[in-house]
Amino acid sequence: MTVSANQMNVPLLDLKQQNETLRPEIEAALGRVLDTNAFILGGEVAELETELADHCSARHAIGCASGSDALLLAMMALGVSAGDEVITTPYSFFATVSAITRLGAKPVFVDIEPDTFNLDVEAAALKITKRTKAVQPVHLFGQCVDMERLTDICDDADIPIVEDAAQAIGAEFNGKRAGSMGAIGCFSFYPSKNLGGMGDGGVMTTNDDTLAARLRALRVHGASERYHHKWVGLNSRLDGFQGAVLRVKLPHLDRWTEQRQANAERYRRLFADAGLEDLISLPVERNGRRHIYNQFVVRIEERRDALRGYLAEQGIGTDVYYPVPLHLQECFEYLGYREGDLPEAERASRETLALPIFPELKPEQQEYVVAKTAEFLKR
Ligand SMILES: *Cc1c(COP(=O)(O)O)cnc(C)c1O
Repeated sequence: MTVSANQMNVPLLDLKQQNETLRPEIEAALGRVLDTNAFILGGEVAELETELADHCSARHAIGCASGSDALLLAMMALGVSAGDEVITTPYSFFATVSAITRLGAKPVFVDIEPDTFNLDVEAAALKITKRTKAVQPVHLFGQCVDMERLTDICDDADIPIVEDAAQAIGAEFNGKRAGSMGAIGCFSFYPSKNLGGMGDGGVMTTNDDTLAARLRALRVHGASERYHHKWVGLNSRLDGFQGAVLRVKLPHLDRWTEQRQANAERYRRLFADAGLEDLISLPVERNGRRHIYNQFVVRIEERRDALRGYLAEQGIGTDVYYPVPLHLQECFEYLGYREGDLPEAERASRETLALPIFPELKPEQQEYVVAKTAEFLKR
């Protein structure tokens, strides 16, 4: 494709700028790990755990190999197993549900709110049975689920909440941090998350000392004492290099979040000025939420894929989170869901589009994104 003179390149995410700015600090931190040979867990990871617990307002933070493993370990720590049900959302990344099914438990999907794309907590309340072992909301795209209402519902039924906070580090509900409100919070350091590592990584947070001890054991094959296995766990540790890199990045996280929020505000102004209210829905930010904008996801009722193609031709990167809802995935055919069962999740899969929102995005790049979107939608 030839790039015309007035064409701009706007990637969905540009990690290079962030990493280049921090390069000297990152190299020094990696050097410290090389010097100490602490490649698995070790001092950097231990320091990071303390800093992350503080950042998430939780008593404990326990590093592990990925966000997917964090969810799996959380379910294991709560004793989720065959015959149990776990209530969750059909509109999320695959790991949300595989953590449940890998333990032989049954995911019970509840539809989402059409404006926030988050789990509808009132619908979740109706799905609680004697077999419900946990409820697992996802703070999707960086905005918290209604944790106050969900906590009321789950406390009444004595059911623990596992927060899938993979996209929500630093997000808040009425002043409370994601990962501090449920029994266990699960985070990912996949490079595209707001706090991204240079490889896979994850962390679990909890205020419960017993769960913390169990999670610490489960990540090392269920051994709380070496070679003495109380449970069958996983080999799932955060490595020293990731710990060192993440410690360099964490002090910058709040500033990056503020830049993402400012970018979201700028999109709102630009889209309003372009007069596109009837053609595109912008993310809804509920009162009392600190939305950290891991993604800026808009809804276009028709021609979403054509718009995406047009923007790509103009040099603009976008993505669809998520094109197939979890209840319609081939591997879950055995659960018996049909198209039409969870209409809001299915509609979101057809209509949503993530636009670039990363911290270093420039105002003129956002102007370009909005101008090109308007050009397509108005013709
Ligand atoms: C990224 C993500 C995960 C999984 O994290 P990994 O570190 O990639 O395993 C889980 N849930 C959600 C909602 C995510 O966005």
